[in-house]
Parts: sequence; structure tokens; C-alpha cells
Amino acid sequence: MVKEKGPEHAHFVQQEEPKTPGESTKVKCKYCELIFTATATRIRAHLLGWTRYGVQACDKVPPVVTHQFEQLEKEKKEKEFKKRKVEQLDKLSKGEAVKPKKQSTLKAAFSKQDCLKVDQLWGRAFYANGLFFRLAKDPHFKAAVAAIASFGESYPGPPSVDRLRTTILEREKQLCRDGLASFQESL
Ligand SMILES: [Zn+2]
Repeated sequence: MVKEKGPEHAHFVQQEEPKTPGESTKVKCKYCELIFTATATRIRAHLLGWTRYGVQACDKVPPVVTHQFEQLEKEKKEKEFKKRKVEQLDKLSKGEAVKPKKQSTLKAAFSKQDCLKVDQLWGRAFYANGLFFRLAKDPHFKAAVAAIASFGESYPGPPSVDRLRTTILEREKQLCRDGLASFQESL
């Protein structure tokens, strides 16, 4: 299957036909007429003024075009971020371990104090509610905590009592029924 060309190619004129499919060929920028060997990344680098790909920045590209590609890059990054989060949450829901991101030494030193504060809040939550200490070892509880951490700051916090009593409970029941049905089918 021939890979579809990205929107960046609309701003360049191909100078030669690729000898093999997917081969990088020379292109000419429609704005500054610079000719260089193109990959999608190098083309974007030229339009966006990134210098780390060995191609000089375009000095004649209209700002509207730069803006368009900045938006595309932003969307791409957000998509990748969301995909990673979904994969992590998926792993957590299956009870698989998710590797925490490596922290820099400086960050780790700062977070030691923060870690103590968080521990204190955990302790208080347990003592104030008479929670069983074994909850701290419970895999479901740990998975829920890890899921919050993985979700990041945008997670609104534990679900409301109302949702725990209704929609979330109903969904959990359905998941149990589905699990049971597929188990019975496999017998
Ligand atoms: Zn150019």
C-alpha cells in the first residue's frame, strides 16, 4: 500500500521520482526555493524553523502555514499522550504493573518531603474512617490509586457517592456477568 502523503507536501515541489517506494527524494520549497532531501520530519522542520534535523529554517513561509503545522504538531503530541494514558489505564485495569517514570535526582530529593506529606494524608484517611489496614495491600485499591496517579492532575478525584451507588455499580455488575458468561462459554 502506498503511504498517503502528509499535508506538508503541498508546500513543496518534488524534484525527482523515488526509485523505490518510500525512498526520500529531493524537494523544492515553494516559498524560499531551497532544495533538500525530504522526509516528512525534515519538511516540517523547514516550515517550523526547527534546526535539529539538519535543514535550515524557511525564511519566507507565511505565518498562517507555520501556524497550521504548529497546530498539527500539537494535536499529534496530544494524541500520543492520550494513547499512552489509555494504554496505561488499560494495563492497570487488567492488574498489570505500570512502570513509573524515572525521576531526576533533584526531583526525587524534592519529592521526599512531599512523599511524607502524602503518607500523612493517607494515614489520616485510614484512621478517620476506621479503614482496614489490609486495604493498603489490596490489589484493587492499589490499582485505583495507580490509575489516579497515571491520569494526572486532570482527574477530578474519587467518584461521587451517587455514582458509586448507581452507574459505577451497575457497570461493575455487568462486567462480572460478562466475565462469568465468557468463562462458562470456555468450559
Ligand atoms: Zn522554504
